[in-house]
Amino acid sequence: MSKLILASGNAGKLKEFSDLLQPLGWQVESQSVYQVEEAEETGLTFVENALIKARNAARATGCAALADDSGIEVDALKGAPGIYSARFAGPGSTDAQNNARLLQELAGLPPEERTARYWCVLALMRHALDPTPIIVQASWEGRVLTEAQGEGGFGYDPLFWLPDLNKTAAELSKEEKNRLSHRGRASLLLLEALQERQGQ
Ligand code: IMP
Repeated sequence: MSKLILASGNAGKLKEFSDLLQPLGWQVESQSVYQVEEAEETGLTFVENALIKARNAARATGCAALADDSGIEVDALKGAPGIYSARFAGPGSTDAQNNARLLQELAGLPPEERTARYWCVLALMRHALDPTPIIVQASWEGRVLTEAQGEGGFGYDPLFWLPDLNKTAAELSKEEKNRLSHRGRASLLLLEALQERQGQ
């Protein structure tokens, strides 16, 4: 089994990627096991930041590495908060503060002008100098509500309304969200890309 270092300390993500990739012969371990110092996310796109994180983990451990980067893109804000989603209200801001900032920025806008989507990019590098990393990205369309609705999920989920379901992402079960979300779909694309490469 080959080792794959996940460039994140998040236990939920570790379990998710481990379940997904173990059948393909990958033993997924968190970078925190190797005391990898977190990389500074200096990129201007999700792709750049995912690559920076994956390369940092691969360089520090000498193993293959996987990183994800995600966020919400709001059309009326020209794509903001985008890669700054986690820190929209300032460094170290909470989900509640970020959501409040988003509502404030969109105040007065009618529903049809509140279109948005989540993005998730995954980057897998076989080693730090891998010239052809696997990069996949997936999105999830929705609209930003004018007030929070639902208790589940995290981040912007209570404001992220799904027109087809007439629910917010915070009103979905964990399974339903995993099946539909940007992250769930990007994970499936990664699986397909890996299967294709391993079959070559
Ligand atoms: P990260 O890539 O896990 O660091 O997420 C970046 C930020 O994007 C999070 O802190 C959230 O603000 C936002 N985000 C990404 N995915 C989701 C999601 O599925 N629901 C809600 N917010 C999300």
